[in-house]
Amino acid sequence: MRELDWIKKAINDLALTAERDGEYWRASYTREDAAGAALLEKWLQEKSFQTRYDAAGNLYGRLEGSSKETFLIGSHRDTVRNGGKYDGALGILTGMEAVYSLLQEKGRPQRTVEIVAMCEEEASRFLTGYVGSRAIVGELSQKNLEELDDNGVSLMEALAESGYYRGVLPQKRDDIVGFLELHIEQGGLLEKEGREVGIVTSVVGILAGEIVFYGRQNHAGTTPMRLRCDPVPVAATLIQQLDCWAREKKDQITCTFGNVVVEPGKSNIIADRVTLTFDIRSGKGELLQEAEAKIREILEKDKTIKAEIRVACQDPPAAMDEEGISLLETLAEERNLSYLKMSSGAGHDSQIIAPKIKTNMIFVPSQGGISHSPLEYTDMDDVGQGYTLMKAYIEAVAWQR
Ligand SMILES: [Zn+2]
Repeated sequence: MRELDWIKKAINDLALTAERDGEYWRASYTREDAAGAALLEKWLQEKSFQTRYDAAGNLYGRLEGSSKETFLIGSHRDTVRNGGKYDGALGILTGMEAVYSLLQEKGRPQRTVEIVAMCEEEASRFLTGYVGSRAIVGELSQKNLEELDDNGVSLMEALAESGYYRGVLPQKRDDIVGFLELHIEQGGLLEKEGREVGIVTSVVGILAGEIVFYGRQNHAGTTPMRLRCDPVPVAATLIQQLDCWAREKKDQITCTFGNVVVEPGKSNIIADRVTLTFDIRSGKGELLQEAEAKIREILEKDKTIKAEIRVACQDPPAAMDEEGISLLETLAEERNLSYLKMSSGAGHDSQIIAPKIKTNMIFVPSQGGISHSPLEYTDMDDVGQGYTLMKAYIEAVAWQR
């Protein structure tokens, strides 16, 4: 397919603009970001789109339809450090090509169609992330703009320096009636199940933070067991019990304790404190609430030490649009594409947009389930299946309505 040849070349050409000391890294509002955006803008213009940037640096390509109602398609253009070529970029490039090819085949659309290359989804520079999608739904606050990067530069300064921000916060887009994001799966489920595409039902919610257990530092040899106030076994019990609880829920919830710090961290000293991070994700909001209650219940059982929970992030799951899911299923069946309805374990711009605008996502398989790595790879045949479904969906919602 001619369209796939273009997408394949574009993926590689775009990645080259983010090459930095031999690795791919497009942090937002940097030289690499400007180079990537300029190339995307050139391609959009060549493909008949009118281009512009908003105050958050999102790049849009607009194709005017008979109606002002706008259908938005796209993904993010930033990458993690030492990331891959497909994450984010694929959703922008496939969208751009699908709309261009529909324009050639069918003429102007009924609905106006816009392609968007969003900024700062990955927290590639500012910890909060999702800057571009927050801007679209009018949720980028003054406080967000004051957030600092590792070098003490604020988001506002970075945006102003890039020429995007001129003192006015981005306005909420009221004209958008639907959003579609094609993305690599970033997991190995499609490959394992032998399905060609994923139809996303929800993006998981997340409960994350840290728990600090306070003990009493003392000598490992002279302090009898009954006189100790040791936070390590208490932390270990919590980890073990929550892990067991999550396993009982089958594939409905994940629970990760990614960082456990014991202080002072010496083999012959009873610890003074233990800090552990928790990252709990589920497509079901009630399970996340249950997890939090479970943590509190386990902590309350132990009366020997004091523990403090610091919740850093509590985002409910974001449901994709039901009507859109049904339409994607029908279109996949008509084209003999094998699909899997699935929840997304990774975060996406779609989860920010979904509560405000009807949103749907298509996944294509990630080889070996690998992502956020230079080894990230999706076979062009697999890209092709996702592209076919995407193009059919865009035709249905923007051309045929
Ligand atoms: Zn992504």
